[in-house]
Amino acid sequence: MIKAITGTKDILPDQISEWKRLEKIVEEQMSFFNYKEIRTPTFEETVLFSRGIGESTDIVSKEMYTFIDRSGTSITLKPEMTASVVRAFIEHKLSKKQSLHKLYYISSMFRQERPQAGRLREFHQFGAEAIGGNDPMLDAEMIELAYSILKLFGLKNLEIKINSLGVPSEREKYKNELQNYLKDKIDNLSEDSKKRFETNILRIFDSKDEKDIEIMANAPKILEFLGEESLNHFEEVKNYLDEIGIKYTVDFKLVRGLDYYTNTTFEIVSGSVGAQSALCGGGRYNLLIEQLGGQSTPATGFAAGMERILLACRNEGCEEKNESSIDIYLVRMEPAKKQNVFKIADRLRLSGIKTELDYLSRSVKAQMREANRMKAKYVLFVGGEEFEKGNTVLKVMETGIQEELPLGKFDEIINRIKK
Ligand code: AMP
Repeated sequence: MIKAITGTKDILPDQISEWKRLEKIVEEQMSFFNYKEIRTPTFEETVLFSRGIGESTDIVSKEMYTFIDRSGTSITLKPEMTASVVRAFIEHKLSKKQSLHKLYYISSMFRQERPQAGRLREFHQFGAEAIGGNDPMLDAEMIELAYSILKLFGLKNLEIKINSLGVPSEREKYKNELQNYLKDKIDNLSEDSKKRFETNILRIFDSKDEKDIEIMANAPKILEFLGEESLNHFEEVKNYLDEIGIKYTVDFKLVRGLDYYTNTTFEIVSGSVGAQSALCGGGRYNLLIEQLGGQSTPATGFAAGMERILLACRNEGCEEKNESSIDIYLVRMEPAKKQNVFKIADRLRLSGIKTELDYLSRSVKAQMREANRMKAKYVLFVGGEEFEKGNTVLKVMETGIQEELPLGKFDEIINRIKK
């Protein structure tokens, strides 16, 4: 038997309503906050991600789906959207059109990670990017926007963590200090963290190893190394969040080990999904656009994982029941022909009525069973003596009341159903 590739998942019809509910909330909130949708290709040149995400990250160093296509170009399935959005921003010279672009997306991402609950190889993210503004209000808006979507979806067990990384010069000083702190503790670090000590020391904070966590708990904190401007930016972000009553905790472990990140970072975690608790991550990346060949432009954004959000919702019992039903089921009886029923179905469907009919030449009894299974609000009997007189019989399923209606007066049938 051919099965779906490990780490990929089918989304079956009975799961779709929750996906659609989430997508609808995302689209509505994005529109209330005036973010415009952007769609970019599924694959890009590999160099976009190696430069746009960073060689030393897990994503680039070991998780990308990369292949050489028939023309010899190195191609990568997108593991995240920010680099692609920034590429599109630069390529289409969007900065010439207006100074601030507020963009959002909903899309599949691909990372060859070890699959587990809440961690897939093809997964879906929605996210937003505001390119062209350095105001702390935008950082706060990102958090507000992401949080509002999760709340509206019905999630409760949420925590917002924020931190600031300042600017690269401040971070360099901090990294030196961290090196000093860890110098005589290296032997006690996990193998991964020993490597990170050399390649990307800030990422030791991401380690899930208990010993690493214990060591890092007493490490110097980045906020102590920020200058006045960075501290002010951070204060303002917090003030804006306070202003709208959004609760957060400052988490000095929330670092992103890449040079183009600046100032704010944030994460929204859920207590309802186990080890992979981050539903959403984001922050400011004022240096990325320049790094990808554009003009220096400040920007901020976030990405949220939809499978994890749906999992959290399932675990919290916040799913909404969506009883699917149809408006009308057409029951065919002799002497009506299939063509007669097919034509009626066509007219009803084109009038915006959810209509179903029998394709399996079933008995009248079996057709009624189908109508009941599909929770049809009405049944229209096409056939029998009435049909010979040019009539049909409309039955209201809830009350059982039946009414004879002329086939010729189609509008009457439609009006009755739409009422
Ligand atoms: P990142 O782009 O790594 O900052 O991730 C943003 C969000 O995407 C995370 O908080 C997760 O909710 C989700 N996510 C990241 N990687 C995966 C994955 N492999 N499977 C499912 N969701 C993921």
